[in-house]
Amino acid sequence: MKLKATLAAFGLAAVVLGVIFVYSYMAERPTREISYGEFKTLLRGKRVERAVLFKDRITGELTVEDAGSLVAMKDAQLSKSPEKAQKERLFTTRRVEDPRLVDELDRLGVSYRSGFEHTWVMTLISWVAPAGILMLGAFLFFRKMGYGSGTSRLFVEKKSNVTFPDVAGVAVAEEELREIIEFLRNPSRFQNLGCKIPKGVLLVGPPGSGKTLLAQAVAGEANVPFFSISGSAFVEMFAGVGAARVRNLFARAAKKSPCIIFIDEIDAVGKAREGIAVSGAEEHEQTLTQLLTQMDGFDTKKGVIILAATNRPEILDPALLRPGRFDRHIVVDRPDLKGREQIFKIHARNLKLARDVDFKGLAATTPGMVGAEIANVVNEAALLAVRRNKETVQMSDFKDGIERVSAGLEKTNKLINAREKEIVAYHEAGHAIVSLSLPQADPVHKISIIPRGISALGYTVHLPTEDRYLLTQSELLDKITVLLGGRASEEVIFGEVSTASQSDLEEATEIARSMVQTYGMSDKVGPLTFEKGRPLFLDTKYSPLKEYSEHTAMRIDEEVYRIVNQTYQTAKQILASRRLDLEKVARALVEKEVIDRNELDRILVETN
Ligand code: ADP
Ligand code: MG
Ligand code: ZN
Repeated sequence: MKLKATLAAFGLAAVVLGVIFVYSYMAERPTREISYGEFKTLLRGKRVERAVLFKDRITGELTVEDAGSLVAMKDAQLSKSPEKAQKERLFTTRRVEDPRLVDELDRLGVSYRSGFEHTWVMTLISWVAPAGILMLGAFLFFRKMGYGSGTSRLFVEKKSNVTFPDVAGVAVAEEELREIIEFLRNPSRFQNLGCKIPKGVLLVGPPGSGKTLLAQAVAGEANVPFFSISGSAFVEMFAGVGAARVRNLFARAAKKSPCIIFIDEIDAVGKAREGIAVSGAEEHEQTLTQLLTQMDGFDTKKGVIILAATNRPEILDPALLRPGRFDRHIVVDRPDLKGREQIFKIHARNLKLARDVDFKGLAATTPGMVGAEIANVVNEAALLAVRRNKETVQMSDFKDGIERVSAGLEKTNKLINAREKEIVAYHEAGHAIVSLSLPQADPVHKISIIPRGISALGYTVHLPTEDRYLLTQSELLDKITVLLGGRASEEVIFGEVSTASQSDLEEATEIARSMVQTYGMSDKVGPLTFEKGRPLFLDTKYSPLKEYSEHTAMRIDEEVYRIVNQTYQTAKQILASRRLDLEKVARALVEKEVIDRNELDRILVETN
């Protein structure tokens, strides 16, 4: 810190000196003293272009040639550069009693004006003001960079007045955060019981789903201080600042425990190390290392919980996700129908609403929207109502608001229409029914047709390799069958398929190929492996080195085709025989968007 203060002082001094130098250079205008007589001669010879009349002197400018001759006359120096001559067009002379001067100037058509006397105050102001402005700028600059005494501004410490009633549609996440709130309210109780409290909790979800809001709500509910910093604020141009910030943040938080440290957009600091651009990579790494060090050295017993948020968990450095760091992940997904209705209500609570406003209806037309987008819709609706000179906000304003907001969304976020919704419902129901019909398939917890949130993709954080497990041949086959269940359902019901299956097919093909090529699970190809140390499937970037003949390559392709095709037929057979179930589940999905396991079981029992 001492070093930095010195640095800052040096920086300031340099800036000030620079200002003075530049200013005095500009202020110095080479002028030539001439006698009043000379002045009058030049004037009568029409050699004066302009004059400024002060109380005790006259300054002015000569016409170009005359400047040269004046120089020659005064210095007997004919070789002056034109540049210099140009500069010396300026003259100054002592004023003597000469009442007819003004008349003369008028007659000769010389432009003149009265000079403003430079008092010492004016001089002072003309010097001090620009220097002051520059110093202020420099001060702000250095403070922003983290030098000097302004360190407390690097992160925001505040009392949060957000609580759970301000958040909706993320009930699962709220439930998981309750334990943490309990702990923050009364840390000693937990410590006495010897409970293990998570140190770091990572909130994962698409942008605008309410991660920041939830973190604030946790602080608000627990009524503890909330230290927040955005990951991008760590990324700095001066070496060591990011790391210093992290240290500073943790030190201050420790003094205020119990409290919450919230690192928003942690991906900005926590990017996997090799992926960083060369410049700033070192700084970045220092910051990340400091963060890890601080987390490791931190004892949960102190009552500090570290929350972080990201919408790109896949790019995080695995070191951040190890046990004892951000090992608890909470998914903050896109809200379902009910959730959207509640979010509409929360954001419209201060509006004057017309009778015809139906939040359920609005929720039904906004699948896939996140909380931030719904907040936007409500805001747009209110603005439209004002523009339309209405007393209250009407349903039509909300509908137009939805139109506006969805027009601005990215293509992948676009709302789906009724027809698409039906296709997606059958597709997802297909996966589910096939899965339920196969003994070795992964259990179904939840089906959703909400446009892909992170969790719907079965979001995978790459945990360290110890967690890898073993899969049998029949498990792999069932996995492929379930993956193909979506497409099979579309074919069985509509007689044609959509583009919805692309990633399913990719994954299915990849697994089938690994079975044949890596795990020796095909009789036709034999118990051979053609790839050494190939990472477990799903790692798409891997490009294998071929160590087999063309003939073998062909047989591998044939076997992959056979496996995928056979499992696809199995999926279709299952769905054709359980068509009634399929339809029931799909219809329920269209209506509710999300079905959990209990509900699914209920629907299926009713059918039979
Ligand atoms: P994220 O951090 O996930 O990108 P934010 O928490 O910053 O999203 O959300 C931005 C704003 O959108 C919030 O301040 C709030 O007004 C609104 N919002 C987002 N999610 C919700 C939600 N689940 N419930 C209520 N409002 C929400
Ligand atoms: Mg946020
Ligand atoms: Zn699918």
